[in-house]
This record gives sequence, C-alpha cells and structure tokens, in this order.
Amino acid sequence: RAKKEGKNKFIFYTEDILVDNNENIQMAKNIQSAIVNEQFELYYQPQVNLSDGVVEGFEALIRWKHPEKGFISPADFIPVAEETGQIFEIEKWVLINAIQQKKVFEEAGRPDLSISINLSSKTLTSDINFNEIEQMVRLFDVDFQSITLEITETAVLTNVELVVRRLNKLRQIGFKIALDDFGTGFSSLNHLKTLPIHIIKLDRSFIKSIENSDKDTKIIQSIIALAKDLEYKVVAEGIETEQQLEFLRQCGCMAGQGFLMSRPLPNEEVERLLENGITIGGANYESK
Ligand code: C2E
Ligand code: MG
Ligand code: MG
Ligand code: MG
Repeated sequence: RAKKEGKNKFIFYTEDILVDNNENIQMAKNIQSAIVNEQFELYYQPQVNLSDGVVEGFEALIRWKHPEKGFISPADFIPVAEETGQIFEIEKWVLINAIQQKKVFEEAGRPDLSISINLSSKTLTSDINFNEIEQMVRLFDVDFQSITLEITETAVLTNVELVVRRLNKLRQIGFKIALDDFGTGFSSLNHLKTLPIHIIKLDRSFIKSIENSDKDTKIIQSIIALAKDLEYKVVAEGIETEQQLEFLRQCGCMAGQGFLMSRPLPNEEVERLLENGITIGGANYESK
C-alpha cells in the first residue's frame, strides 16, 4: 500500500494540512460561541502533600463541553486559540472563575487552599496590559500568595528577557510562579537559574519513567535534589501508581497530583473531596 501511495504522497500530505486548517477554522468559530454560550467549565485537580495526603490546593483545568461534539480536550483547542488570539479571552474567563473559586475557599474558612492557573506562553509574551489583569484580580480581594500561575518553557524560547520582566511583574502583584511540564523543554536546567519562579512541576513523562530504568530514576532524584538546593518547591505531575508515589517520597518530593489521588473534579465535587480527605499510601488522612 505504501508503495502505491508513494508517488502521490506529497499530495496526500497537503490535503491533510488543508483538512486540518479547515478543522481549525471551524474550531475557532466554535470557540467564539463557546465563550458566548458558556460551554467552558473549570475542573479542579487536588495537589496534595505526599507524606500525609493533606490537600494543599487545586489546579484549575479548563473543560469544553460542546453540545454536539461532546467533550473537547484543552490539548486540542488551546493551541488553536493561541493561534487565533482567542486565548486571551479564554484566559480572562479562566482567571476570573478560578479566582472566584479561591474566594469560595476563603469564605468557607479555608484561606490556606491554593489555586493554580495555567497561563499560555502566548499571553505571557503578548502586549497584554498586566495592569488590567492586576485591576481585575484586585476586584476579588483574595490572597494572592496562594494563587499560582503555571507557565511553560515554550514561553522562554521566544524572548527570555521579556519573560523574566513579565514574571517579575506578576510576582510583584503577588502571584506565585510555577514552571509547568519541567523537563520537556530544550534547556530546562538553564531556565532554573534565569527564571524568577517558586515552583517546579516535574512533567508526567518523568514520573511515568520511574518504573523503567535506573538512569531515569537517577535523573529524577538529581532534579529533585537540585530543585531543593535552589529552594524551589517541587510538585510531581501525573502520579498514577503507589510505586511512583513511594519513590517520589523517598526522593524528598513533598507535593504532587495525579489520578492515584484524584482526577480533576467539577467544582460541585470539590467540597465533598475536602470533607472526605484523600487516601494515599494505604491510609485515609483527614484533609485538615
Ligand atoms: P498541564 O497543565 O500539564 O495539566 C496536566 C494535565 O495532566 C491535565 O490534562 C490533567 O488532567 C492531566 N493529568 C493529571 N493527572 C494525571 C495522571 O495521573 N495521569 C494522566 N494520564 N494525566 C493526568 P488536561 O486537563 O487535559 O490539560 C492538558 C493541558 O491543557 C494542560 O497541561 C495545560 O497545558 C492545558 N490547559 C488546561 N487548562 C488550561 C487553561 O485554563 N489555560 C491554558 N492556557 N491551558 C490549559
Ligand atoms: Mg498545569
Ligand atoms: Mg503540567
Ligand atoms: Mg504536563
């Protein structure tokens, strides 16, 4: 079959791209109506203390429930929204809603619970006026010390100086900064010394490799040790097995999130989770 196609391969390829572009154009139109018709929802995945299962906070993760197409993954529509610029609109919405959830925690007597929000590289490096963000978030009168903005290394590839300036501004407002998906970028170690961050999120691909090889486990061990030396908090992403959890504990990684503890939850289930606490390592610990 491959041989038959050989000659026309290029044509197939360009057709694929065309289809892809049409899909993206359609997607972009749909995103617009998703904002208007309130099809977005935030889910919250608990971030827990790995030694005792205490919930420290939640990462807000956007969900799109399309009336006909059903669930559309952020991994599919965020890149399109970044391309079209619709990401700004989406992120404003995310920011407002996540901060509202933070307010709900504070009013429920849990000001200690943090909220993490993913911030696109596109937003971070755009001409966006951070004063506007600052004014908007101040309207809510919440404690910024426990709001974390998660950024990725892709932002840094375009303009390191700009990103450093922007991050410093966000820190001034009071946000904590986390470097998300750490270890997947091109020069991760270099970024550890240049970026004004507080937290490193170890990428799921690392956690996945824990059971695989001696080399992988040594690399993870060293990264956790290095991060601690540099006084960054380390949060492990995508913990799925007891073995991964145990290994991370042994390495001194104190916080993490993953399906082992809990999937991302709709906000009406967050309260119940906080009441019941999270079971890890065979014991059920109180959430506080
Ligand atoms: P991320 O920020 O690295 O988020 C972690 C992703 O891993 C989430 O996928 C989460 O549901 C998933 N995950 C958590 N624990 C586990 C686990 O144990 N196993 C596995 N297999 N997966 C796990 P999700 O929600 O589909 O989000 C994918 C990406 O989309 C996020 O990666 C983030 O980059 C982006 N994203 C999500 N929400 C937003 C948002 O509000 N704004 C922006 N800019 N990006 C967002
Ligand atoms: Mg994230
Ligand atoms: Mg991540
Ligand atoms: Mg990731």
